[in-house]
Amino acid sequence: MTELATPPVEESTGVTRISHWIGGHSVAGTSDRSGVVYNPATGRQTGAVDFASVEEVDRAVQTAKEAAPAWRAVSLAKRAELFFAIRELVHERREEVARILTSEHGKVLSDALGEVTRGLEVIEFCCGLPTLLKSEFSEQASSGIDVYSIRQPLGVVAGITPFNFPVMVPMWMWAPALACGNTFVLKPSEKDPSASIWTAELLKEAGVPDGVFNVVHGDKTAVDAVLEHPDIKAVSFVGSTPIARYVYETATSRGKRCQALGGAKNHMIVLPDADIDMAADAAVSAAYGSAGERCMAISQVVAVGNVAGPLIDAIKERIPKVKVGDGMDPSSEMGPLVTREHRDKVASYVEGATAEGAKVLVDGREGAPAEGFFLKPSLIDDVKPGMKAYEDEIFGPVLGVTRVGTYDEAVQLVNDNPYGNGTAIFTRDGGAARQFQFDVQAGMVGINVPIPVPVAYYSFGGWKASLFGDRHIYGPEGIDFYTRGKVVTSRWPDPATSKVDLGFPQTR
Ligand code: NAD
Repeated sequence: MTELATPPVEESTGVTRISHWIGGHSVAGTSDRSGVVYNPATGRQTGAVDFASVEEVDRAVQTAKEAAPAWRAVSLAKRAELFFAIRELVHERREEVARILTSEHGKVLSDALGEVTRGLEVIEFCCGLPTLLKSEFSEQASSGIDVYSIRQPLGVVAGITPFNFPVMVPMWMWAPALACGNTFVLKPSEKDPSASIWTAELLKEAGVPDGVFNVVHGDKTAVDAVLEHPDIKAVSFVGSTPIARYVYETATSRGKRCQALGGAKNHMIVLPDADIDMAADAAVSAAYGSAGERCMAISQVVAVGNVAGPLIDAIKERIPKVKVGDGMDPSSEMGPLVTREHRDKVASYVEGATAEGAKVLVDGREGAPAEGFFLKPSLIDDVKPGMKAYEDEIFGPVLGVTRVGTYDEAVQLVNDNPYGNGTAIFTRDGGAARQFQFDVQAGMVGINVPIPVPVAYYSFGGWKASLFGDRHIYGPEGIDFYTRGKVVTSRWPDPATSKVDLGFPQTR
């Protein structure tokens, strides 16, 4: 991860300092450690983000803890009203945050706007919080006895988020957490941290009380301080699988509730009866959109039977038409990768593919813009299990093709993979698609849909090494994750009927 043992850079150098947000205000870091933030399209440093110390994380948690009693007491009606105000503001200012995303992440503006819109859906879902928090009531569960359940917030909860969706993934967390009456500490990615400060300012403007939403920037020190903090009751994490596993194991061993979403290797199966043009359009869009830096990106096409030849031809024909350039240019369709280090790592899979026995059909290292962290789309044929290009989550614009003979072999490939985030099948056969949905071991399945990110009133999450924990994120499971249940048994008897009874209470 990006880490410098240097103090934050002066404003006079043209580099913006990005500070923490605690108790409704920007708070300058005092740890003397910071990270470099780049504009990936130019390769130049644009920001220096403060890295929090253990004490600074503690300060944010204490602030959130102090704000918690008043926040959980805010009526559902008032909280819903605040969510409507947040919704309006995000909608109004979506282009402003999209520009922030493009300038630090690199994704093209239209894609950045798409990210904001999908996050907004989660906020809109949370506007219905009075209905979401409704519980059950059983009158006369026993004679003269009523039983009902209520759901209450956990207290202070935390979110740790990845670089690839700097505004949407935090929304997946803070929106349901706040809607349920929790207060929140966010530790965003240090690679593109400004969107989280934009969010903090927006929530304040919408009327969310100070201390309810806090941001601490940083690296492992800040993450560990969150995981160790006794006043944090739950941790939501989204990022790579090794860190997700670490976060889950550490948080749960400290008695915290944890949902940790990890990496992915999403396969798209194309059956011989599929519409080739539609499948090729989908593969190109889902593999190279956002430069492949999406956990739901398609990174592996599985071509069944004789579909491989025409499908590869159709993909190859489309690749040169993908316009790669600065995301701020409205004509760009694919921007740069997030850092030089990541760009070089992704390029190394293309470099090594031939030695592994695969065939590089399109080499994205050729003709990529020299400035910035660019790589053009790559296509590799004959990628097989055991090769690095197959086993690793490349997380860049590199699409592999595996050829198999039958549907059964294709499903076996997906089910044998350690990841189980998303998968898709392209076919005109409804029966085959239904069988796939029944057979496949992945949390999110697309039928002729390459990126099946669930709408906000369902929940998002993978299987196997793509999710540690038992609750998916946002939607109904998000509400479940950020609340705990309480069951009340109540009676209002005539005191005259009262007597001592040492027997175990039974229903009558
Ligand atoms: P990452 O795991 O490197 O970082 C995620 C977070 O963990 C960041 O906030 C980072 O500061 C922190 N972190 C990094 N190294 C750490 C360490 N050693 N100890 C403690 N904390 C650490 O992930 P990334 O590169 O920012 O994001 C890309 C990854 O996220 C990909 O693997 C992608 O598939 C995954 N992702 C998954 C989903 C999903 O829903 N399953 C969604 C988006 C991204």
